[in-house]
Amino acid sequence: MELKLYNTLSRKKEDFIPINDIIRIYSCGPTVYSFAHIGNFRAYVFMDTLRRVLKYNGYILKHAMNITDVGHLESDADEGEDKIAKAAKKENKDPYEIAKFYTDIFFKDMDKLNIDKPEIICKATDHIKEMTEYVSDIVKNGYGYETSRGIYFDISKLDKYPILQDRKVEEQIAGARVEVDSEKRNPEDFALWIKAPENHIMKWESPWGLSYPGWHIECSAMSSKYLGEEFDIHTGGVDHIPTHHENEIAQSKGRCGKIPARFWMHCNFLQIDGGKMSKSLGNIYTIDTLKEKGIEPIAYKLFCFSSHYRNKLNFTFEGAESANVSLSRIREGYQKHVLSEEDLVSDEEINEFEEKFHRAINDDLNMPVAMSVVWDVVKYSKKSKKLANLLLKFDEVLGIKIDEMPKIQEELPEEIIELIEKRKKAREEKNWKLSDEIRDIIKEKGYIIKDSKTGMEAQKI
Ligand code: AMP
Ligand code: ZN
Repeated sequence: MELKLYNTLSRKKEDFIPINDIIRIYSCGPTVYSFAHIGNFRAYVFMDTLRRVLKYNGYILKHAMNITDVGHLESDADEGEDKIAKAAKKENKDPYEIAKFYTDIFFKDMDKLNIDKPEIICKATDHIKEMTEYVSDIVKNGYGYETSRGIYFDISKLDKYPILQDRKVEEQIAGARVEVDSEKRNPEDFALWIKAPENHIMKWESPWGLSYPGWHIECSAMSSKYLGEEFDIHTGGVDHIPTHHENEIAQSKGRCGKIPARFWMHCNFLQIDGGKMSKSLGNIYTIDTLKEKGIEPIAYKLFCFSSHYRNKLNFTFEGAESANVSLSRIREGYQKHVLSEEDLVSDEEINEFEEKFHRAINDDLNMPVAMSVVWDVVKYSKKSKKLANLLLKFDEVLGIKIDEMPKIQEELPEEIIELIEKRKKAREEKNWKLSDEIRDIIKEKGYIIKDSKTGMEAQKI
């Protein structure tokens, strides 16, 4: 089935045609100076869904994601302090310690969301050599120049800048910001490399003295190292479009004359009260905030699926709670299909559901439509093990651990509690026959029982 993806570069949905057998993807990863918030994780849920959809279509992936542990200044342009260095000063810690601490938490949260880890994780500070070489090539090719503050990219040397957005360079200049370097040739020239002031903590020897990288160069250097000069897909958040990705394209054109990725895909913002949720505004919630409110982290994925990734999504706790209930209902529905004894569902019915789901995910990851198919299967009047298997297949894309027991328990009737106690006793006495008989009685009364590490769980069928 054909797969269509929206490409920010062409501003339309295009047929996805791979460059070769292995799909190469690059995703801009976290800047690890603080906890990632659920807004950031919307971008990674999108990245995960893209990976899973490609795999569902039979592709093999080589996917690299960076960890920004140096070079991201307070503004996405070249102003302010390095975010990591600032956090290190504030917390009175070594910048590497700060970066490691937040990177570890980031991956723990990714696990809690059951997000597939990209094949390659690369840290900016491990690639200083590749970055200096990249900058040297740009300078050698005549696209870069030195000032007393650093090395800049000369955007006037490009045939077209910007190319991801429909605007003229002058439009940005009209809303001018205070210039950080008066020696710049063009107001939109951006820093490739920055000479370190005396008290700067993260700096390296380079052809331009003790200095540190600009933010955009890390992604160019690492994507070309791991994926080559031209790869299939580049992902990020919409905030990357005007500066970071525009400048990655400029750098690659300056070095090898190519736009690095065929497809540029961007996830829109998670908002709160209609505005931006961001670390700098201080209005953030984390995965742990959800857990504290009794919301399973994986339910947040369902919350994200309620809207297309290219639309803004407004976060509310009511919405997240309702996603949490949905997660339990879906898992309950799956269990009902697993336990069905007769199977009256035909292969045609199965194929029809599968096709609808596949068509939705292949239409630029249309998860709201895909979820409506999931619900149709979950609630289907005929119960069927084949439908349970189909839901398991859908879960390759959803990644919501559909076969886990539902967490929300309805109050169990007294007689069921008594039967559970009797069964526990039978098992303690290793009376497996009695234990099985009691399990069947419980099932006849409309409850399923599952033995877990923490004891026994019962659930209404
Ligand atoms: P950062 O750690 O700030 O570099 O951001 C990591 C990722 O989160 C980037 O892809 C951003 O585009 C994305 N991001 C930041 N804030 C939000 C938000 N409120 N909603 C969705 N994505 C976001
Ligand atoms: Zn990047």
